[in-house]
Amino acid sequence: MDALMKGKRGLIMGVANDHSIAWGIARKLADAGAELAFTYQGEAFGRRVKPLAESVGSSLLLPCDVEDSASIDSVFETLKKEWGSLDFIVHAIGFSDRNELKGLYADTSRENFIRTMVISCYSFTEVARKAAELMTDGGQMLTLTYAGSVRVMPNYNVMGVAKAALEASVRYLASDYGPRNIRVNAISAGPVRTLAGAGISDARYMFSYQQRNAPLRRTVNIDEIGGSALYLLSDLSSGVTGEIHYVDSGYNTVSMPVMEELKR
Ligand code: NAD
Repeated sequence: MDALMKGKRGLIMGVANDHSIAWGIARKLADAGAELAFTYQGEAFGRRVKPLAESVGSSLLLPCDVEDSASIDSVFETLKKEWGSLDFIVHAIGFSDRNELKGLYADTSRENFIRTMVISCYSFTEVARKAAELMTDGGQMLTLTYAGSVRVMPNYNVMGVAKAALEASVRYLASDYGPRNIRVNAISAGPVRTLAGAGISDARYMFSYQQRNAPLRRTVNIDEIGGSALYLLSDLSSGVTGEIHYVDSGYNTVSMPVMEELKR
């Protein structure tokens, strides 16, 4: 396994702490021999990310707030100076005002709609464009999505709309960059207890509902998401692009609760 990512360099965006999905992915990539750089949002997160980055041998730790294009530009200028080229990126960033992750979707404000779309969707396109400039010998891009993009999940609201747009972006970016052998995919993860996940109202109920009703009768952990990310970011998936790959214990395949659940 160690050789799978040997000689590959990539940027991980979206580690907030050791519960973050991005951290589960980073660990798998580092175990497989990849060299990693990390971004963090603000100094408080920076202090938490630094020891994590160091534990996988990375000293390239850069501030980045994706609401600010100059901040994104600065990350890629540094990567160009330090590394010259780039093999992969992981975008595990999402945000919406938690006051609008409950109640009716119809009540979403214009301001939060735009902010959610910029941070949770457009940032992937902007990052992809900058990253592609450094992917001189092909590359891989990965983002994180959730099934609230294709079906209504209670309280997911505007995030579901942003994830639908994000998934469409994956397909368009895959088409744009495919001729340059740059592959673009997304993982649609089942619910995981993270900071972002906790922002959704009734998250605990959703979590236990999926535990009871997914074919595997459990939720997924960040190591399992990391394993699938390793596949999508390595040559093992060299024929795969524009895909939304579900890592959710099979929950997306079922259409109704299992019988035991209905009888309760
Ligand atoms: P997390 O809170 O650990 O990570 C979210 C990250 O987004 C944080 O690192 C945060 O700093 C970053 N972020 C938010 N706004 C930003 C901004 N303006 N600039 C830069 N970074 C910003 O939570 P997570 O669950 O690991 O989330 C990672 C991704 O996975 C998100 O896209 C989320 O929607 C997606 N996802 C999460 C779940 C889940 O149940 N937790 C399920 C499916 C998909």
